[in-house]
Amino acid sequence: MARLRELHLLLTYQCTFECDHCFVWGSPFQVGTMTVGQIRDLLAQAEKLGSIEMIYFEGGEPFMYYATLLESIRQVKARGWRAGIVTSAYWAPAREDALLALRPFVDVGLDALSVSDDAYHGSNGEQSPPRLASQAATELGIGTSAISIEPPSPTVPPSGEGKGEPVVGGGVKFRGRAVAKLLEGLPRRLWQELTTCPYEDLADPMRVHIDPLGFVHLCQGIVLGNVWARPLVHIMSSYVPSAHPISGPLLEGGPVALARAFDVAHEDSYVDECHFCYDLRDRLRCKAPEWLAPDQMYGVPES
Ligand code: SF4
Repeated sequence: MARLRELHLLLTYQCTFECDHCFVWGSPFQVGTMTVGQIRDLLAQAEKLGSIEMIYFEGGEPFMYYATLLESIRQVKARGWRAGIVTSAYWAPAREDALLALRPFVDVGLDALSVSDDAYHGSNGEQSPPRLASQAATELGIGTSAISIEPPSPTVPPSGEGKGEPVVGGGVKFRGRAVAKLLEGLPRRLWQELTTCPYEDLADPMRVHIDPLGFVHLCQGIVLGNVWARPLVHIMSSYVPSAHPISGPLLEGGPVALARAFDVAHEDSYVDECHFCYDLRDRLRCKAPEWLAPDQMYGVPES
């Protein structure tokens, strides 16, 4: 059984921003938010795994539900785990405001604040909310780190690296809204070359994401089970990577093997492995709805 060390809880799919690169389609119009009661239940389920060390709260934007977030961090710390938050810091228009927002988190023992610090999230210098939030966190003794994503652009690797052909720089992962918004003008590779999953340890995951609907995600939109229907410990103990309908083929030969396993039509070229993988999964949802969910991860508006 995979020995999970971290859970990343998507406290809400809602966000004040609607970034082009967001791979969970965060937006003010998204639907799905965890309650304090659900988080309490989830943490009790997590305890049964016996291997958890840290819980992250992310989204969407978790600070949109401030009271729920604060109480959740308190509950995580009461169980003896480390606690972290990923945020855009939209709530930090000035130093004083940032300190006021963060002080209660010092009282409950928050360990880490990870701030999205890039133009997508309104960062444009030392006085922007992400910088002010990071400075306030440091002042209060909370560990901070920055997540900086640049718009993707074609770059040529330095001589001696690769084949000298343009690659895509910037750090965007081509899943979710990035696939709908950021592909134009980027170099592509033939689909037959995309034979690995470069970013997730599908065979032995150290972390999973759990969303407000209860879905446990191996990678965003690839589901292992639902914690509101089946305990997390059972979901993880019954995960056999090679037998999972989606991760099995991905492990065997990346998106190429997934396309062949389901005999699904696709394009001739893609920007990278994640672009191919996400496009295939979007096409396959009707064939494997249990494993490719929920609508939120595939940008399907609520009807
Ligand atoms: S190839 Fe697929 S499973 Fe692997 S990281 Fe990319 S989107 Fe996720």
